This record gives sequence, structure tokens and C-alpha cells, in this order.
Amino acid sequence: MLKTLRDITQAVASAQNFHSALELIVTRTKVAMTTQCCSIYLLEDDNLVLSATDGLLQSAVGQVKMSLSEGLVGLAAEREEPINLADAHQHPRFKHFDQVEEASFRAFLAAPIVYQKRVLGVLVVQQADTRQFNEGEEAFLMTLAAQLAMAIKNQRKKAEAPDLLLFKGITAANGIAIAHALVLGGQIELQQPETKAVAIKDEVSRLIAAIETCKETLSTLSQRFENEEDNEVVSIFSALQSLLDNASLGGEYIKEVREGWSAVSAVSRVSLRYIEQFTQMQDLYLKERASDIRDLGLRVLRLLIEPERMGFEPDVPVILVTKEADATMLAEFPRHKLVGIVTEQGGVNSHAAILARALGVPAIIGVEGVLAARIDKKLLVINANRGQLLVSPSPTLIAEYRSLISAEKALQNQYSQELGLPAETIDGKRIHLYLNAGLLSSLASEIAEGSDGVGLYRTEIPFMLHQRFPSESEQVKVYRQVLDIACGKPVVMRTLDVGGDKPLSYFPIKEENPFLGWRGIRLSLDHPELFLVQLRAMIQASAGSRQLHILLPMVSNLDEIDQSITYLEQAFIELKSDLGDQIVKPKVGIMIEVPALLYQLAEVAKRVDFVSVGSNDLTQYMLAVDRNNPRVSTLYDCYHPGILRALKRARFDCWQYHLPVSVCGELAGEPIGVILLVAMGYDQLSMNQGSLARINYLLRRVSHSDLSELLEMALTLSSGQEVRELIREYFESRELSAILN
Ligand code: PEP
Ligand code: MG
Repeated sequence: MLKTLRDITQAVASAQNFHSALELIVTRTKVAMTTQCCSIYLLEDDNLVLSATDGLLQSAVGQVKMSLSEGLVGLAAEREEPINLADAHQHPRFKHFDQVEEASFRAFLAAPIVYQKRVLGVLVVQQADTRQFNEGEEAFLMTLAAQLAMAIKNQRKKAEAPDLLLFKGITAANGIAIAHALVLGGQIELQQPETKAVAIKDEVSRLIAAIETCKETLSTLSQRFENEEDNEVVSIFSALQSLLDNASLGGEYIKEVREGWSAVSAVSRVSLRYIEQFTQMQDLYLKERASDIRDLGLRVLRLLIEPERMGFEPDVPVILVTKEADATMLAEFPRHKLVGIVTEQGGVNSHAAILARALGVPAIIGVEGVLAARIDKKLLVINANRGQLLVSPSPTLIAEYRSLISAEKALQNQYSQELGLPAETIDGKRIHLYLNAGLLSSLASEIAEGSDGVGLYRTEIPFMLHQRFPSESEQVKVYRQVLDIACGKPVVMRTLDVGGDKPLSYFPIKEENPFLGWRGIRLSLDHPELFLVQLRAMIQASAGSRQLHILLPMVSNLDEIDQSITYLEQAFIELKSDLGDQIVKPKVGIMIEVPALLYQLAEVAKRVDFVSVGSNDLTQYMLAVDRNNPRVSTLYDCYHPGILRALKRARFDCWQYHLPVSVCGELAGEPIGVILLVAMGYDQLSMNQGSLARINYLLRRVSHSDLSELLEMALTLSSGQEVRELIREYFESRELSAILN
């Protein structure tokens, strides 16, 4: 049964066009259920229209239409539940349509096709004899309808092109851009069909050429990045090059072709074989080679399968559309040629998202069905502020977006002009604004000058851009640069927060439920050898300054704090003998991300110097919503009144226990969030550099005393949506609405 379901769904997903997809559904379902008739009705302008049938008259397709209050098909859609009748004719809602000639059918089973709470149509099977379809048949049709919903939606999008197509995704980096699509490598998998070479000699030459091109690209890339600030990226490329030599993987690929395999199969076979072997190794250094092998295999495969797309340097700026971008893919692009990023998969903290923010390129992720819609080379508008992607927009729309882009630029300039002035409300309340950072390049010195320091330096990002754990001296170098850029201002460095959605390619963690698994401090405490190296590197980098604050992520109990502090003391004592008075004990804090900690702030205050509220994770754990899952993204809401109450309470508790507190989740960089947080009494906010000027500008135009009343009202509302509306109205009343764009 499962196989039948999968076969039908896959066939529909890969159908040539929408019409054949519908045909496939009805013919295959009829056979699978051994019935005499299967039809599909799709909802169009509030009417259910017979869109394909195997059993009714073909001439009725497109002709038979009914509203949701008509007929049995309408009933299934209206109730959003299956209708299973032994004799449809006996039912009061039965409606006869002359065009279909269904008089001979008595047994009737209909299942609504629902996608994200919206009915798309109804799938119906019918049979001549009067009999109730059994439970198994009903469950099958229901399951099929549920699985088909997504495929139908995607096929429909394809069919609607080239008219304006609107895709929705999750904002990974704000901004608007207009450019043509460059769809890259989404379809290429390491697993390739096993085929034999037709002419071995030619195949070997083809493979050698691909290997050479790949080496050249890698060499150009590492040169390109050698002169740039983010030399963290350089190591990615240089390590890969040597692996392509004849004595290494390159030779293995060729050997396989000489044994008779096609070049594509050879690369696939060798890669899969070595990945399997290397991932099983205990040694971390050797384990990490598996990701190199995967990366190289995919690069060479792309050169063999779609050579014209590789090394492609677009003449004009493009919006990159791909399944899941990786750091190397984005780093490969000349910066001025990449104006937008759209991915089908990945989370807001994926490599792609993090890099996009660092590069200031608008990006949306989780855009379902975008690859299937065949939009390569089409003109796109990416409006990442709203998580929207428009395909082939009309000239009028383009003109509108162009003026939006200019208006946005003008606004940014206006905000930036005040960046050097303090973030102080009209009635004199000073708010300290800090930066969230991960890449050195996102810490441009002028921005560091416009902020009160770095409120969150995510050390996992340099770790993610390496091909192995960075050594102590490599870490010291990076951390020192961060401290230097901050020009004497405080820098909060967070210890490694990998796990969950932030994997290290060289330290794979396979878990059923990674967000509730081995993340953040849990991993560090289980690997004191890594943790101590990191703590030592941070302290060494801070020699001669008093800027360093150390922040522990994903803490869920007090014991983790105590253990971490013991390691910190150990690292400090080890370094003290060499560095003497050059180093001072850094201040230590924890992230408040796990809800239980909200109720232990009194105990936390006795152990640490400060806390920082990670509203991104706190929201996901309080609401039990995966922050990266596009399916539940509408439920992930930091403005949920329950979350707001928790934040208010946390602020109060920190105040009563004399515990300095900041907020460093995305909420602290959103205008609406800032209004609420400041009203609660938070006066230290840490945000992405893109938000800094805007928030500074906003705070200088509001009155702190107005905000408490607004907060009290917000807390009585019943949903995040209502809260947002309330603050929006407040912005309107103060002529500050533009700040929300
Ligand atoms: C958070 O959870 O709010 C946070 C700042 O940490 P990250 O987004 O890196 O998980
Ligand atoms: Mg977090």
C-alpha cells in the first residue's frame, strides 16, 4: 500500500504538466482501488470544477461545476472530511448532473484535498454496486489526498507560469531586489544511476577535464578570498584542492572509469564508498574528510552533468535560486553579482542564511516548489522583508518595486545619519544597542563605532566555515580581530552553540530530535578538550583589554553553569602563569533560551554576572514550534502574549535579583519587538548590523512613558497578530509606519 501511495505521488510530482498530473491521479487511483470511476474536482473561484476523470464522460471535464453547498462533492469540501456512502442516490445532498452520466454509480467515497488548512479540491471514487467502502479503502483515499495536496499545489504553480507567480518563504535576510533568476544545481545528488561507459577513453578524458576545471575553480576561489577580511573562508577551498590529485580521490575516480563505469557513476560510486568509510571512523580529523569528499564529488558531478552551469559568472547581477545553498556556493559568487538568494530548504540559521545576512543580500528560505516551477532566467522580484518572491512581474509592478527600493535606500540613509547619536528616548531613557555578529566582515568598524559593543558573537560561525575544529591559535586570531574591531567596547562571546540546526560538517551529529538534543553547552561539557581550548583562546585574545564577556548557550540547569565556571577557572589559571596581569577574569553569563531557567533566575543570579535572553530559541521551546520548519512557521510567533508575559516577568526578576539582562534574539532588532521590550524595562538590546541604525532612529522618536500603557494593552490581547496590529497603529499615530518596511 505504501509503495502504491509513493508511486502515485512521485508520478504526479514529476508529471510534464498540470493536466497530465491530474490524469495520472485519476487513472492510477482507479486502478489502485479497483473501482470503476475516479474523478478529481478542484476549487476554482469558490466552485468545485470537475478537472479530470476516469469513468465519467470526458466531455464533462471543465463543464461540471458546483458550489461548496451543492452536491456530495461540495459536502466533502465544506465539511473537510470524507463522505463514504453505500448508495449516493439516497443522500439528500445528492445532485444529478446531466453531463456526467453517473446514474450507474451508487457507491461513493470522497476525500477532501487540503493544503495548509485550505481545501484545494476533492478526490472521488465511485462504483456501480451499492456497498460501503471499507475502512482500509477510506484511509487509503484520505492518505492519498493528503499526500497529493502538495504535488497538486506545485503542479498548479508550474501551470500558472508565465503569469505572475507568487512564492512565499521565510525571511533569512531583509531587503528587496530585482534581477533574473539563476537556478543552480538543485537536482544533483551524489547518488547517481550505475551506468557503464560507452567509450572508456573518451570518458576518461571527459573526467580528467572536469577534475582540472574543478581544481582551477578552487584555486581561483582561494585566491579571491585571500585578500578579503573573511579569511575564515579561504581554508575551505585550499583543503579541497589537494584531494583532487591523482594520488588521491582524483585517481580513484579515473580508476573506476578504467574499470568500465561511466564518469558520472564513477564519481558517485567512489564518493559514496569513501563517505561511508570515513563517517564510521572514530578519529574526528578523519571523520571530517567525509564532508570534503561529498563536496568534491558534487562539484565534479555538476561539471559532468551540467557543464554549462558551472564556473558560471553571470554578466549581470542575479538572484540565486537553489535547493539548499552552502557556504562555499555563496562565497563563490562575485559579491556584486549576487543580489538575492532563494532556497527551497534550510533554516534561518543555515549557512546560507547566516552568510546572506553577513553579506547584506536579501534572502528567503523554505520556498516550497520554487525549483519545480522552472523559473531559470526569468525576471524576479525578491521582497525578503515580506518573505515574497514574484516571478515575471508586470512592468507596472517592477516600477513599483524600483521606487520601493529607492525609498528604502533613502530611509536607510536617513537612519544612518543618526547612528553616531545615542539611542535615547525623547524623555531621556538611554537604551544600549549592541551588535550580533558571526563573520568578521559583518563587523565593519564604522558600525562597531555606532554601537555600544558586540552583544552576541556567535563563535560557531567561524567553526562552521572551517573544515575541521579550528586550533587554539587560529581561534585566538579570530577572537582578537573581533575584540580589536570593537575598539575597546564590550564583546560578548558565546561559546560554541552547534547542534540543532547548526551542524559542523566535520562533526556530524545524527539525532531524531536535534533541537532537543546535543546542543550548545551540553556538547561543550561533554567535550572538555574542545571547551577548554575555546575558553583559553578567548581569554588569550582578550589579553591587555577588559572587553571580554563569555556567554554560555542552551543552559538548562544550574549544574551546567557550575561546571562551566569550573572549566573557565581552570583555563584562566592555566593562562595566568604566562600572561600574568595582562588578563582579567571575564564576566560570565548565560543565555535564557530554555523556559525552565525563567523560574530559576534567583539561583542563576548567584552564579553569573549577566544573562542574555535568546528569544529565538525561547520562543521555539515555549511554543513547541521548530523555528526552522516552514510548515509551522505561522505558529512561531515571538509576539504571542504568553511569550510577552514571560519576557516581562523575566525582566522584573532580573531587576529584583540585580542581574544585568539583555535580549539578543531577532526580536531585539525588530521595531515592534523593541517597543515592547523597552516598555518592559529592557535597556540592552543586541541585533544584526542591518537593524542598528533603524532601531536607533526609532528609539530617538518615542517616549518611554507612552510605552508602558501600550505594553499593558498588548498583554491583554489574545494573539500575536493583535499585538502587532496594536503597535502598528501606534507607529501610524506617530508617523513612524515607514520603519516597519
Ligand atoms: C536565540 O536563540 O535567540 C539566539 C540569539 O541564539 P541563536 O539564534 O544563535 O540560536
Ligand atoms: Mg539560540
